[in-house]
Amino acid sequence: MVPHWIAGERVEEAAAETVGVTESATGRVVGRVPAGGGEAADRAVRAARAAFGEWRHASLGRRKTTMFAYRELLNARRDELVDLLVTEHGKVADDAAGEVQRGLEVVEYACGIPDLLKGEHTENVSTNVDSWSVRQPVGVMAGITPFNFPVMVPLWMLPIAIACGNAFVLKPSEKDPSASLRLAELAHEAGVPPGVVGVVQGTGEAAQTLLTHPEVDGVSFVGSTPVARHVQRTAVEHGKRVQALGGAKNHAVVLPDADLDVTADALVGAAYGSAGERCMAISAAVAVGGVGDALAPAITERLKGLEVAAGTNPDAHMGPLITAEHRDRVAGYLAAGVAEGATLAYDGRDHPIDGDDGGHWLGPSLFDHVTPGMTVYTDEIFGPVLVLLRADSFEEAIDLVNRNRWGNGTAIFTNDGGAARRFHHEVEVGMVGVNVPIPVPMAYHSFGGWKESLFGDLHIHGPEGVQFNTRGKVVTSRWPDPTERGIDRGFPTAR
Ligand code: NAD
Repeated sequence: MVPHWIAGERVEEAAAETVGVTESATGRVVGRVPAGGGEAADRAVRAARAAFGEWRHASLGRRKTTMFAYRELLNARRDELVDLLVTEHGKVADDAAGEVQRGLEVVEYACGIPDLLKGEHTENVSTNVDSWSVRQPVGVMAGITPFNFPVMVPLWMLPIAIACGNAFVLKPSEKDPSASLRLAELAHEAGVPPGVVGVVQGTGEAAQTLLTHPEVDGVSFVGSTPVARHVQRTAVEHGKRVQALGGAKNHAVVLPDADLDVTADALVGAAYGSAGERCMAISAAVAVGGVGDALAPAITERLKGLEVAAGTNPDAHMGPLITAEHRDRVAGYLAAGVAEGATLAYDGRDHPIDGDDGGHWLGPSLFDHVTPGMTVYTDEIFGPVLVLLRADSFEEAIDLVNRNRWGNGTAIFTNDGGAARRFHHEVEVGMVGVNVPIPVPMAYHSFGGWKESLFGDLHIHGPEGVQFNTRGKVVTSRWPDPTERGIDRGFPTAR
């Protein structure tokens, strides 16, 4: 059983009903988590509330030093985290190392918390009256995270939440839960007091307990759109602030002047890296003005050379999918796309696999001549499937992106600066790349999409992460001169 982390200790729960955690490359069960987890969530929240009482008063110097120590420990344990990602998620080792690095960078950002929490001061807002603003912690923050980034996404939340002075309870994905436990243990080793960080293993039931718990003040969620929508509504109904990041269908628009080889390389990396199980994966390419006729074969050629193998294989480009059910669901879209009239230019079901028969394998696939009504376009497939659409004009391509219900990431490939500028100005998407296929903002910017990719107002990490994890307060102060007396019957105005 993968333990919870409650009040600074591993807690093994003897749950009657459990769900298995599988090694994606073999299908072997390598761990179990409780099928519920609600009772543990309640205990972790109560421990967090108790710990918040002291932690909120911890000096900025102490919080900063703790973050630096955490950074050093995570850095020292990089390989251990990478191994957990390769086993439970199935990422190839280079990809897993990149994930750990991007998570670590949020910890580095949080090391600067004394600077990030500086307020503003105005002298003499009225005669002998001063005002200043401060940001204070919110209380107990909860995080609910998806399977596809078991280190990075928890680290989008945890370092900023606690550096701001909150306590933080995490409910990681039940599909690859072990990395979260290590993240909490290392935070403890770095000097984070017991209870300030909790991890609850379990399913949606544990998450539901966090969403409705009266002692939880805020919720950061990352996952699929239907759950994100539910999380936002439930959290708001229960009086909490919430940021809920949802799913995506990220478009790459390819203009005729783009360098074909550079673009095809970029699209293959962005569509099939991590087996397409990235919220910023490019899953739809829009070829403008006939460039699709050259682009489709350029991609197909590259797919033939992709080595699909376990992440432990140093030659692997792409690993397995997260579960057998998910693999079957993705494969189902290959049949559906053909039935709807798309051209299956490359069929991942026939791709050679170098792996254990029990693994959740599916090779890379390319659909060409896809139209907007087809389910391979309207649904988030979240697997190694790229769909190629054709647009007659640049305007038609932008319109296609803007009509899509998601707006997480997008990219344009071109050598025309004016077209690129028009694209990033007009496109209704939260994160935009210009010849950059996966424009994930660095830790000191904020990450988040538009439309059905984000429910709530504030993006995650960076300055908006600090804002989400703090409450603003403005103090107005006067030290009266006893000679200046008298009752003021008016509403206060500056004098
Ligand atoms: P998911 O929505 O199935 O699960 C996410 C988390 O929610 C898990 O911890 C799960 O246990 C929990 N959960 C499930 N049902 C719940 C419920 N009813 N109430 C509360 N919590 C519940 O997502 P997933 O399959 O783990 O991850 C893949 C999805 O996440 C994709 O749609 C992907 O696009 C999205 N994603 C988005 C971003 C982003 O930044 N926008 C980042 C990563 C992943």
